[in-house]
Amino acid sequence: MPAALATVVAAALAVTTATNAAASTAAPSPAAACTGYVGLTFDDGPSGNTTKLLDALRRSGLRATMFNTGQSAAANPSLVRAQVAAGMWVANHSYTHPHLTQLSQAQIDSEISRTQQAIAGAGGGTPKLFRPPYGETNATVRSVAARYGLTEILWHVDSQDWNGASTDAIVQSAARLTNGQIILMHDGPANTLAAIPRIAQNLASRGLCAGTISPQTGRAVAP
Ligand SMILES: [Zn+2]
Repeated sequence: MPAALATVVAAALAVTTATNAAASTAAPSPAAACTGYVGLTFDDGPSGNTTKLLDALRRSGLRATMFNTGQSAAANPSLVRAQVAAGMWVANHSYTHPHLTQLSQAQIDSEISRTQQAIAGAGGGTPKLFRPPYGETNATVRSVAARYGLTEILWHVDSQDWNGASTDAIVQSAARLTNGQIILMHDGPANTLAAIPRIAQNLASRGLCAGTISPQTGRAVAP
């Protein structure tokens, strides 16, 4: 789609959203200000950091997709429910966080299916999105994921928070996101937690809102 036309369509959608919001509720809708959506993702939870992470996201008015490991979901089912209660989307990040491309098809199947069960059992619903640990994937991994109705989601921007990135660097990574794109972050790092209010400010200054990830397109869209 030509950029000019895309702008017109986005503007028309924004008007439609604003009209619907006005009709359904007296409160102004934050969605009316959104000219695009980005996918914030946090891997490897839930953990002892999750409560603080959810608080920070809520305070900043952000929603995100949480790629949980099955073992962490099974160990912390109340935190999976807390993710859902905070408005987050819960997704599958394997059970034990292995290098999936080094496993047999049966082992890959077990990693994915046990995680679906653990998350659903904890109250997180049945995930539709799957991210292989380390982003390591191949045709076998994708076909097993597809068997469980899962779409594989990687990322467009790597915050490098797993690699010791500073809070400034994480904020700058998020500032590179454009409409539809997804950023990789993690549940644990203190610098990631500290970056959240500034990420929210930057996105708002650019008219971007935190969206959900479409299983159909693998891109961030309006929730
Ligand atoms: Zn991971």
